[in-house]
Amino acid sequence: MNGSPDLGVLLRPRPASPLVEVEDERFGRHGVRLLVKRDDLVHPELPGNKWRKLAPNLRAAVEGGFPGVVTFGGAYSNHLRATAAAGRLLGMETVGIVRGDELADRPLNASLARCAADGMRLCFVTRSQYRRKAEPQERARLLEQARAGSSYVVPEGGSNALALEGCAELGRELRGVSDVVAVACGTGGTLAGLAAGLGPGQRALGVPVLAGEFLGAEIRSLQEAAFGAPAGDWSLAEGFHHGGYARVPARLEAFAADFEQRHGFAVERVYVAKLLWALAALTESGAFPAGTAVTAVVTGRP
Ligand SMILES: *Cc1c(COP(=O)(O)O)cnc(C)c1O
Repeated sequence: MNGSPDLGVLLRPRPASPLVEVEDERFGRHGVRLLVKRDDLVHPELPGNKWRKLAPNLRAAVEGGFPGVVTFGGAYSNHLRATAAAGRLLGMETVGIVRGDELADRPLNASLARCAADGMRLCFVTRSQYRRKAEPQERARLLEQARAGSSYVVPEGGSNALALEGCAELGRELRGVSDVVAVACGTGGTLAGLAAGLGPGQRALGVPVLAGEFLGAEIRSLQEAAFGAPAGDWSLAEGFHHGGYARVPARLEAFAADFEQRHGFAVERVYVAKLLWALAALTESGAFPAGTAVTAVVTGRP
């Protein structure tokens, strides 16, 4: 596998993703500068934070001689899709353990069909099995059921210590660039790594896209595992989940479509739209003093 030409292309360090200043009067009239870090352009097939998190894990899987990679996700998981694409590029077997055994008897949705087309073997498990996948015994049972007992295990959402190292590189690319660097959060792994890579005087701001109250503790324990201690200056801006994961109420849809019209790039709805909405709302409410430069990380594309 080490001789595969795609290995180098996929895992080689890539040039920094573009950073672009955006002219938008909703920010400008408050004296706030808005920049976008186009991390959706970091890799043609594994956009944004999915590439940042997966690349160091795939390198570890290849170097460790593992026969394949197994990971976990819901029916619409961007992480499953990215892992499947990586498997195709690397010529590596991938297995996806998918939440919801009822899905096994239905036609695959577009996201899972993409995974399957990329060669991922899908294994559907009950919601209660899925919920307990972090418990060692249940995990062993799941891996056996998926015939993936000897595969390299990447956790749900791809957030582990190596993933945080990959996201710290995103922070390093933004050193000295702005006062605040903001990112949408699912598992919080991207924020946890990003914060560690930023320079002195910069702070990271996370916008959770799911309702829930454990994310702060989760981020602290991810940083503990990756860096041995809390790292960087970060906080969460709560209250912008718009009803929960993947909920896109009409006013958020209108905001995102309008943002695309004004600024000419596609706004991913599940994460990036909520981030941009939150930054506009925080700016409007005076949360950023005049003179603040804010960078929004565009973590993916539709
Ligand atoms: C997966 C994903 C996220 C969430 O990243 P976490 O590290 O899990 O917080 C953010 N944005 C996009 C576009 C994603 O696909």
